[in-house]
Amino acid sequence: MLLVVFLGVVLPALVMVTIEQRISEQSQQTMLEQGKADVMAIGVASIVEPMWVIDTLALREAADKLLANPQVMAVRISENRPHAPPIMRNRPGVHGELAEENSATLEHRRKPVMRGGETLGNLQVWFDTTYGKSLLAQRRNQMTLLVVVQVALSMVVLLMVLVSRVLNPIERLKDQATALALDVGSKPTMAWRRHDELGQLGRHLGRVQSQLAALFGELEQKNQQLQALALYDQLTGLPNRSLFHDLVQRELLLARRHQQRFGLLFIDLDRFKAVNDTMGHGAGDAVLVQVSQRLRAVLRDVDVVCRQSGDEFLVMVRDLDQWERLGEVAERLLRAVEAPLQLVGAPVHAPAQVSASIGIAVFPEDADDFETLVKHADIAMYQAKALGRARYGFFHAELNQRLQANLELERALGAAITNHELVLHYQPQVDARSGRLIGVEALVRWQHPTRGLLYPGAFIGIAEECGKIADMGAWILAAACEQMTQWAQRGVDVGRMSVNVSALEFRGHRLLENLQSVLRHSGLDPSRLEIEITESVLMTDTDASQHIIDRVRGLGVGIAIDDFGTGYSSLAYLKRLRPTQLKVDQSFVRDLEQDADSRAIVKGLLGLASALGLSVVAEGVETLMQRQFLTEAGCPILQGYLIARPLPLAALEAWIASQTSASAITATGTMEP
Ligand code: C2E
Ligand code: MG
Ligand code: MG
Repeated sequence: MLLVVFLGVVLPALVMVTIEQRISEQSQQTMLEQGKADVMAIGVASIVEPMWVIDTLALREAADKLLANPQVMAVRISENRPHAPPIMRNRPGVHGELAEENSATLEHRRKPVMRGGETLGNLQVWFDTTYGKSLLAQRRNQMTLLVVVQVALSMVVLLMVLVSRVLNPIERLKDQATALALDVGSKPTMAWRRHDELGQLGRHLGRVQSQLAALFGELEQKNQQLQALALYDQLTGLPNRSLFHDLVQRELLLARRHQQRFGLLFIDLDRFKAVNDTMGHGAGDAVLVQVSQRLRAVLRDVDVVCRQSGDEFLVMVRDLDQWERLGEVAERLLRAVEAPLQLVGAPVHAPAQVSASIGIAVFPEDADDFETLVKHADIAMYQAKALGRARYGFFHAELNQRLQANLELERALGAAITNHELVLHYQPQVDARSGRLIGVEALVRWQHPTRGLLYPGAFIGIAEECGKIADMGAWILAAACEQMTQWAQRGVDVGRMSVNVSALEFRGHRLLENLQSVLRHSGLDPSRLEIEITESVLMTDTDASQHIIDRVRGLGVGIAIDDFGTGYSSLAYLKRLRPTQLKVDQSFVRDLEQDADSRAIVKGLLGLASALGLSVVAEGVETLMQRQFLTEAGCPILQGYLIARPLPLAALEAWIASQTSASAITATGTMEP
């Protein structure tokens, strides 16, 4: 900047001063020369007359007048007249006989005084040679002062122009660029009215800024969409597992520092697959959305719920004073899930309904990291499912051990069929009045190599979970029918064979094929075979059930509804499904003696069955009083420990033999506890 001012203002001024100095030096030189010649001419002219008339006084005055000229330092007038003394005038400080003196500072000139061709005398004048220089110096000083003032003024003006027209706009541009750099998405706030390059630059910058702002707006929106995709479940809008994981991690740090506890709940909808399979995925999605809204609604704001996957949800319950409170929370969640759901297209009078199973793990008692907490809550959830679903359970170490044992069983189950470890026991069903054997129910047992005889409760569920149930069911059906054929060949009449079929077998494709193939291979009369299906299985998807039942009955095979009275049978469906037989659940039989309601229910069931033309078996008959009540109420068939426990083959045959010889029915059953 200074260099620009120097080159633009100071340097030209210096050059001008030098040139001007040169010019004035030259013109002054001629002027001074002219002045000197004029002094000599005027001097001579003014002394001619006085010299002629010899007027010394006038000569002196003329000399003084010449000395008034500032260039003149000394004057000498000398006459050619004999004895006339010369007149000498000089300035103070200029001494001596000047005529002889020719110093560097004085210039001597002489001019004769003539009149009428006669020389009267001489005029000698000494000029000051420094006069011109001092004049020049004075002029130079004035010039320099002028130039300095001019330079100063122009610099002030230049600087003002520079500041207002260049520096300030550049400063504004800088601010604009800084704003752009610091907050790229900011909107332009500066208006540019200038039409020069800087104004254009500013406007361009503004345009770039608004384009960037728009771009960043779009980017921000995209970013938010991406974030929502990455952190939230698209269907339900709940946080996904990844966000939930982060929130739990943070809670873990806080809870550790403040020695607090929090709960983690693993929620799994019961039989959600059936909803999807029967009502379609659209309905399944609608169920998930409604359920997630309800879960959110019953939780406090501080709690977090996420959709972990499919029909699984995770909940973090914070600020927990007592861990027992988690039970209340779980209870609330269960109730919320179970409320009827209104799905689009579903009839208003038959709203859909789902239930859930919940497992609970507590920090820090059950685990102190996210993965283990989830794992343990999952284990507890499985346990809740195993206990009958639609309930919650806490995780504790024992649960875990049981799960490990189940895993071992699952592995061993694979080899159970090939190693011939499965056996069938048979429980007789007898005519209530005569005690005559009507049929047997085949009940599977597993002769485990190390754990001894296992009952179905210990392994059917596991076989269902790990997919072994299909093979196992096929084996049971084949073994039961083969046994029937053997008995027929040996002339032993057991009447009818009932075989239990699990939910998965019933819904699977293989049941009908298996039935057809065993009937073909064994040559068994289909009317001597009956399959038992629990009521809850039949009622979950009545259309599909109807279809399967029709086809089973088409083969001539009977169908008994097991554990009748425990599910939610609708009478209308019962009429449509038309099984061959109902098996009144043990719980009603057990309570007959103490509970009037059970007695009423059993009587009602018997009336209903006879109205629909269905046969009835009362299960779990253990006492004489129960037998008496059932017989009097008109129950045609009885099954239970009072008659016989489930018996191995040999024991059953012995029992049958004893029955034919004995007239009274006595409780047998030393074979099973
Ligand atoms: P379920 O079909 O209701 O079988 C009756 C259960 O009640 C049997 O238990 C039987 O031992 C028991 N029981 C019979 N009489 C009495 C009695 O007077 N009092 C008491 N307290 N109990 C009695 P088990 O053998 O342990 O079978 C349990 C369940 O396992 C069966 O209930 C059935 O649902 C299932 N199951 C049994 N065998 C098979 C099978 O071969 N395949 C399939 N898929 N499930 C089976
Ligand atoms: Mg049964
Ligand atoms: Mg039963």
